[in-house]
Amino acid sequence: MTTEQPNIIDGVIIGGGISGLALAHWLGLHDQPGSWELWEATDRLGGTTGTDRECGYSVDRGPNGFLDREPLTLQLVDEIGLRPELEPANDKSNNRFIAKNGVLHPVPFSPPAMLRTGLLDFGEKLRIFAEPFIKARRDDSDESVFDFAARRIGKGAAETFVEPMVSGVYGGVARDLSLPACFPIMREMEVQYGGLVKAMVSKMREKRRKQKASGEKKRGGGPAGPGGHLTSFKTGLDVLTDRLAEQHQSIIHTNRAVARVAYHTDGYWTVTDATGREVRATNVIVACPTFVAAQFLESFDHELASAFADIPYAPIIVVATGHRREDIKHSLDGFGFLIPRTENIRTLGSIWTSSIFAERAPEGHVQFRSMLGGAGDPSVMELTDDQLWDSIRRELGPLVGITTDPVFTKIYRWERGIPQFTVGHRERRARIEQLAARYPGLHMVGNAYYGVGLNDCVKMAKRVAENIKIQA
Ligand SMILES: Cc1cc2nc3c(=O)[nH]c(=O)nc-3n(C[C@H](O)[C@H](O)[C@H](O)COP(=O)(O)OP(=O)(O)OC[C@H]3O[C@@H](n4cnc5c(N)ncnc54)[C@H](O)[C@@H]3O)c2cc1C
Repeated sequence: MTTEQPNIIDGVIIGGGISGLALAHWLGLHDQPGSWELWEATDRLGGTTGTDRECGYSVDRGPNGFLDREPLTLQLVDEIGLRPELEPANDKSNNRFIAKNGVLHPVPFSPPAMLRTGLLDFGEKLRIFAEPFIKARRDDSDESVFDFAARRIGKGAAETFVEPMVSGVYGGVARDLSLPACFPIMREMEVQYGGLVKAMVSKMREKRRKQKASGEKKRGGGPAGPGGHLTSFKTGLDVLTDRLAEQHQSIIHTNRAVARVAYHTDGYWTVTDATGREVRATNVIVACPTFVAAQFLESFDHELASAFADIPYAPIIVVATGHRREDIKHSLDGFGFLIPRTENIRTLGSIWTSSIFAERAPEGHVQFRSMLGGAGDPSVMELTDDQLWDSIRRELGPLVGITTDPVFTKIYRWERGIPQFTVGHRERRARIEQLAARYPGLHMVGNAYYGVGLNDCVKMAKRVAENIKIQA
C-alpha cells in the first residue's frame, strides 16, 4: 500500500501590506513564482498604505510618503519601474511649524533661529546650548525618548520639540517610548560622539571632507532635514503597493484571512483560513500585525502567541479635509504643524498636504490632513465624524484661519494603527525572535520590530528574503 505525499508548497506570506509585497519582490516571485502564495485578509492590497481619489482630491489613508534616504526603497522603486513616477516634497515644505499659545511658530533649524524663537524662554534656550557639556550616558540600559531629550536638551525643549514629533511619527507618548528602539541613531550619537551637537559637528565635517575629496556639490537636507527628503508618487502613495500587487497577481489570494497556523514534526506548516481551507508549506512569513499573529498562533504555541501579543499598538485617526483656498487665511507655505501636548489641544498636528505634493486637491482648493488619537488619547476613537471635525475646527481654526466647513471630508480610523516601541521593546522583540527560531521556516517581517516607517518595512523584507534564500 502506498501513502500519498501531501502537496507542500514553498511558502505562504501572511499579509499584503508593503511588508508582504516587498518580501514577495525581494524573493523574486514576480518572475519565478515557484509555489508561493500571499494571503491577504481583505479585498485590497496595501494594508495601511492606500490612496482614495474623489472629487478631484487624492487622499492617502495612512502613510503619505517616505524619506529618500533608504537606498533599498529606491532600489525597489527602480526595479518595479516607478522611478519616473516619484515626486519629492515641494521645497516650500521645508517650513515646519509648532503651535504655541495660539500662534504658529517656525521650527528653528539653526542656532540663530533658536535664539530668536518664541517657542522657548531664555532659560530653556540656554539649556539647549548647554547640550555639548552634558555628560554622555554610555550604558546600554533602556531609556524613554522623553527622559533622553530632557537629560540632553532640557525639559522645555523636550516638551516643545520632541513630544509633538514623537506623537506625529509614532502616534506615541514620548515618556513611554524607548529611545534605543525608536531612535537608535540618537543613542549612537551620544555613545559614539559624546552628545548630539558633537555628533552633528563631526558628521558635518566628515561629509564636507568627503564632498571635497569627491568634488560633489553640497545638497540641502530637504523637508525631512538631514535624514532625507520626503518623497511620494505623483497622484499618491498607493502607486507603489498597486504596482507590486499587479506584478504578483499570480500568487495573491485576497479575502483569505489566516485563522490558524501550526508546525508539524514531519517538517511542514499548515496554514488554514477562516473557511477551513488549508495549505501545507515549508515557510510561513508573518507579514501582518503582531496582534493578529497572536490570534492565529494561539492554539499552536501559547508562549509565542503571547510574545506577539505583548507589542502594544496605538489608535490613530486621519481626518482629511478639503477647503476652498479663499476660505483659509493662512499662506500655507510649509509642511504643516505639530502641537505640543502642553497646549492641551486634542489634535496632534495637521499637514498641509496640497502644499507638499501637487495634484492632491482640485484647482483653487487645498487639502489638510489632521491627526488625532495616539497612545495618549485612545478615547478619541469614540468620537463621531461630526465631533471629530468640531474638535479640529475649534482647535485648528484659529491657527490657520478656517472660516467655513470643509467642502470635502474623509476620515480613516486606524484602531490599532501603529505599533508602539515602548521601553523594553528590544527585549520583547528578542523574545519573539528567540521563540520563533525554534521552528524552521518561520519568519516575521513588518513594522512591529525594527522601525515603523515604510523604509523600515522594505529593509526588513530584504533581510528576511536573503535569509529565506540562504536556507532554501
Ligand atoms: C495613519 C498612519 C500614517 C503613517 N504615516 C507614515 C508615513 O508618512 N511614512 C511612513 O514611512 N510610514 C507611515 N506610517 C507607517 C506605515 O504605514 C506602516 O508601518 C506600514 O505601512 C506597515 O506595513 P505592513 O505591511 O507591515 O503592515 P500593514 O500595512 O498593516 O499590512 C498588513 C496586512 O496584513 C493583512 N492581514 C491582517 N490580518 C490578516 C490575516 N489574518 N490573514 C491575512 N492577512 C492579514 C492586513 O489586511 C494588511 O493588508 C503610517 C501609519 C499610519 C497608520
